Amino acid sequence: MGGSLAGLLAAYVLAEHADRVTLVERDRFEDGAGHRSGVPQARHPHVLLEGGQLALESLLPGFLAELRAARAPRVGMPSDMVQWQDGRWFRRLPTMSHIYTGSRAQLEELVRRRVLAHPAIDVVEGTDVVGFLGDASRLRGVLLRDRSGASRGKERVFEADLVVDASGRGTKARQWLEAIGAEAAHEETIDTGLAYSSRVYRGKSGVLDGDTRGYYVYPSPAQTHAGGALPLEDGTHLVIVSGLRDDEPPTDDEQFVAYVKKRLPHPLLHRWMDEAEPVSSAFGYRRTANIRRRYDLPGRRPAGFLATGDALCTFNPVYGQGMAVAAMSAVALRDALADPRRTPTTRRVQEALLEASQQAWDISAGADRFMPGAVGTAAAAGPADRAANWYLQRVMERYLADPLVGSAFRAVLDLCAPVTSLFAPSVVRAVLFRPLTPTPTEPPTAPEEPAV
Ligand SMILES: Cc1cc2nc3c(=O)[nH]c(=O)nc-3n(C[C@H](O)[C@H](O)[C@H](O)COP(=O)(O)OP(=O)(O)OC[C@H]3O[C@@H](n4cnc5c(N)ncnc54)[C@H](O)[C@@H]3O)c2cc1C
Repeated sequence: MGGSLAGLLAAYVLAEHADRVTLVERDRFEDGAGHRSGVPQARHPHVLLEGGQLALESLLPGFLAELRAARAPRVGMPSDMVQWQDGRWFRRLPTMSHIYTGSRAQLEELVRRRVLAHPAIDVVEGTDVVGFLGDASRLRGVLLRDRSGASRGKERVFEADLVVDASGRGTKARQWLEAIGAEAAHEETIDTGLAYSSRVYRGKSGVLDGDTRGYYVYPSPAQTHAGGALPLEDGTHLVIVSGLRDDEPPTDDEQFVAYVKKRLPHPLLHRWMDEAEPVSSAFGYRRTANIRRRYDLPGRRPAGFLATGDALCTFNPVYGQGMAVAAMSAVALRDALADPRRTPTTRRVQEALLEASQQAWDISAGADRFMPGAVGTAAAAGPADRAANWYLQRVMERYLADPLVGSAFRAVLDLCAPVTSLFAPSVVRAVLFRPLTPTPTEPPTAPEEPAV
């Protein structure tokens, strides 16, 4: 269910174990890398973190070379970016890792091309899943409804041995499970009310050219507005601004510019926008709560049903994790199915999928609990969260300018190293005892040279 990133990658893995895998997708793919209504978030910046790059490359060997050949910008962190957090500029230390900042639509199109070439994978487009078949002990398939053509509105039964929910954050699995007498998953939620507004610009001044590929102001409890500009594959930049509940950024084009000017703490971005040419309207996005569906906990749930991607665990997008987790979940699915020591029961595989999202959840839920106005079933911070937050605050104060703490924290944010690596003795010493390294007083215009 769902032919976006999580569904495509899960299908690719399952095709090694099944005679036939059928992707059921509400949209049609005829527009290639064009926008489609089922993925409205594709209008907004999508960075592919290094954890996601490694996962995609391991699933689809040669994928990163294809991404580069398609001109997806590969941005060195923190060297290629001008970044600001809590009143301080980041040093542009030598590259510690890379992010890809090309469009979400292009990335999905490249994945889709590879996946749909698999001879065991079919796609049923322009079709909604509207219910489950089976009972609380086992799913036997799904109920489909055509969205267009002569058969529009017609329902039909589609039988399957395994149903995978990859229908994204708006999944209806709760209702469909309840309708067959099964229990829905307990939902953990944390919602800061963050809203995005994004617009494409073609730059004229050289501020975001050459050595400086992008710009970002990160949010924090003290500065809840975020914004920046990231390069796309066609030489334009996607400008984004975000704010929390009751101060959402506008989607009116003129007000968008005014909001960037008023809410961001430095004029760099709006000065650049003043000279740049807007090449799209502003688009908004508001559904950004962290939601985790705990199918791993006991309950009357059917065998033959798995959830992955955003349908299982979805994050506040400001941390840029969802695509990486979709790919890492497909790797977890592959590994769970290949494990010779264990029978891959629905429960075990579902646990492996949830585990693949654990670190990303810890990062986004952990930070959002301390944002003003956060609400939800998992929003309350306990004593352990407060202790972890105290240490993480010290990490964050240092990672802007301290190479050791910076590279340790970057690897965690990239989903390449476990959170426990922040407690390695050398990092703990730097975090607890080293004084703060000074940060630049103005936005740094060039990367620092690597030390010899
Ligand atoms: C504003 C925003 C910015 C983001 N930025 C980043 C970022 O910088 N980096 C990052 O890694 N991630 C980011 N994400 C997250 C990322 O978009 C998702 O995690 C990623 O797309 C994986 O999603 P998915 O495949 O699980 O679901 P989706 O991409 O949401 O796809 C769900 C699919 O299911 C289909 N569908 C839905 N219901 C049905 C149905 N009933 N029947 C048939 N088909 C159905 C939809 O048409 C769609 O194709 C961002 C998200 C948002 C909202």
